[in-house]
Amino acid sequence: MRKQRENRSLENWNQFTPIGNRILIFGLILVIASVIFVPTVSAQEQAQVNVEYVVQPGDTLTQIATRFDIDLTALTNANGITNANTVNAGAVLTIPGVDWVSGLLDVQAVPLGETFRSLQRRYQLDDQLMARVSGVVSPTQVYAGYSLMLPTGIGEDLVAARAGVGASESLLSLAARTGSNPWSVMAANKLTGMWGGVKGDVLLLPGTNQPGPGALPSPLTVEVTKGDFIQGKTTVIEVGAGGEMIDLSGTLVGVEMHFLPFEDRYVALQGVHVMTEPGPYSFTLKGKLADGSEFEFSQLVRVQSGDYDSERITVDPAYLDETVDNAETAFIKEITAPVTPDKLWSGYFEKPTPFDIFVNSWFGTRRSYNGSEYTYFHSGIDFGGGTGADVISPANGKVVYTGQLEIRGNATIIDHGWGIYTGYWHQSEVFVQVGDIVTEGQVIGKVGNTGRSSGAHLHWEVWAGGVQVEPYDWLIELFP
Ligand SMILES: [Zn+2]
Repeated sequence: MRKQRENRSLENWNQFTPIGNRILIFGLILVIASVIFVPTVSAQEQAQVNVEYVVQPGDTLTQIATRFDIDLTALTNANGITNANTVNAGAVLTIPGVDWVSGLLDVQAVPLGETFRSLQRRYQLDDQLMARVSGVVSPTQVYAGYSLMLPTGIGEDLVAARAGVGASESLLSLAARTGSNPWSVMAANKLTGMWGGVKGDVLLLPGTNQPGPGALPSPLTVEVTKGDFIQGKTTVIEVGAGGEMIDLSGTLVGVEMHFLPFEDRYVALQGVHVMTEPGPYSFTLKGKLADGSEFEFSQLVRVQSGDYDSERITVDPAYLDETVDNAETAFIKEITAPVTPDKLWSGYFEKPTPFDIFVNSWFGTRRSYNGSEYTYFHSGIDFGGGTGADVISPANGKVVYTGQLEIRGNATIIDHGWGIYTGYWHQSEVFVQVGDIVTEGQVIGKVGNTGRSSGAHLHWEVWAGGVQVEPYDWLIELFP
């Protein structure tokens, strides 16, 4: 019946509208037709009236009632709860009197590679409903790992049929690239026209079988396999591309990442600076796939606290001359900036001294010098052992600096490839020269007390992507 009515309307319009508009109107009718005849979420919603919610750790019944805008008593009655203080995480509660959403609602963490928009497409929720269900006021508050409440079960079959729209792509070129029908794409995404702006959007691709995840173009996948964006950690980002890419770059907390081919994927080892304030920061990827198509992706990720200690240190005030400090730090930053494409290390790093771990001071400790604010931090690990103890290269590499520095004393810097460098400060003797290839376990110097040091020790540090990171992780974890 509906179809006949629409056909009649079309006939009527034909009499009054110019040919260009007729095409547009015909398109709109196709959209309406698809929306009506393809079984949709709203059809399921009408059939299924009850709402269930999976209780999350930390939830209280009052919070749950508030979230769904229902009466607390109605909630407890519906679930036969007599003691409102007892509600266990994982329990499934019936939510009475809610008609704006249906099904089983669960909380999930937004995966890397998904955005608010891509999830909205996946679950086929319009702006308002998505905001209401998830409790999100603005998409900009959603970062990777953010807990979103979403209906489960819906859209599961569509996970494999979405695509991010390239920066210079139109709906038509996206359809051509993905082998989908532009009219069906328009209808499935409830777009109002074929030529509207879709730049940066994520679209459902009905009738295709694209393996791509979330907001990234097929067949890209992105995963954080280590570090988890924690302050001071070496974060490992792995991009799967199902083959070779022409180009891949990206940024994390404003720092350029360097991706290198490794086995069947691309890997970047990027330090998150230990003093980065916890909170949401930008993560971007940009590249060109083997077929020449370009893409851009950006998502918020959350830098987490590394829970570092703090200490007060008294030093000769002359030591706090920032001019010397800044110049020397800039010098080291410059040496550790280049990214050598060959990975020279393999397996775990060895300890840089032969002694059992005898650590005087840990990495990342916030420092107050002579009563200052805690704006300084310890950039490495201090090993004891006394003057003359061996300093050992923890992995294969190439010496890129040796010399005498005012603060760091006799210093050596080794490049291990992939933007990973190690530094050895305050040595009494240095046995290597710039250009030397060193091997794991090789004695490269002696522990000492040179530079601004208040007792013999080896200060050892590791740089990843131009940022100092927790060296200890390199002794106990495999990178990548
Ligand atoms: Zn130190």
